[in-house]
Amino acid sequence: MALTARDQQIEDASAFLLKWIRGIDPTYASHIDAARDEYAWSARQMIGAWCAYILENDLYMQVPTNPFFEPGFTGTGGGAATCSMCGTSFTVAYPGQHLCGNTCALQRAAALTQVPVDQESDSVPVEA
Ligand SMILES: [Zn+2]
Repeated sequence: MALTARDQQIEDASAFLLKWIRGIDPTYASHIDAARDEYAWSARQMIGAWCAYILENDLYMQVPTNPFFEPGFTGTGGGAATCSMCGTSFTVAYPGQHLCGNTCALQRAAALTQVPVDQESDSVPVEA
């Protein structure tokens, strides 16, 4: 079914917005891809679903932890920044970039996804 002119306009604007959001943080890009692949949503459905979720769950006053949302943030790419993992100075390639490269991104992802190990259930049974 063809979209109405108005829906097509919203779809185009949503696709543009998603493209911009993808550039803020690689994690956002992977989440956008995952939602698109899982639900086969259009761009306007993704934007609508996420906005509605924020509003329905009273999360609209919460600020994401990405540096892009810090007051006065001006790092729109091309400037110098210091990696928040290793402290190395690097050139910002996209808005909100705060890690110098893939190595630090993988280390950060690993740190964020570490699950505390239950020492008792993780221990190897000792045979008598
Ligand atoms: Zn680094």
